[in-house]
Amino acid sequence: MAHIETWYRCPVCNQAYGSQGEAIDCRNAHLIVSERWAVGKGGKAVRINDNCSINGYGGINWALKEADMSDLVEVRKLQLKERNS
Ligand SMILES: [Zn+2]
Repeated sequence: MAHIETWYRCPVCNQAYGSQGEAIDCRNAHLIVSERWAVGKGGKAVRINDNCSINGYGGINWALKEADMSDLVEVRKLQLKERNS
């Protein structure tokens, strides 16, 4: 006759184990994911893409500038004018 088993699944990689302890060990063995963000003076956060060149779109310097720029078009226009003068 069929029987019932309880499987314990790692919430990160979905691997099933026969005991809760094994699943906890698997969960804890996964690396923490880190992200770098540029945070501007107004609190705007822009994610830094580590695969982009430093000065290119998505890179560190771009993100630092973008974080200080407003998302409001009219304010942004003034900021760009200030920056280029
Ligand atoms: Zn896992």
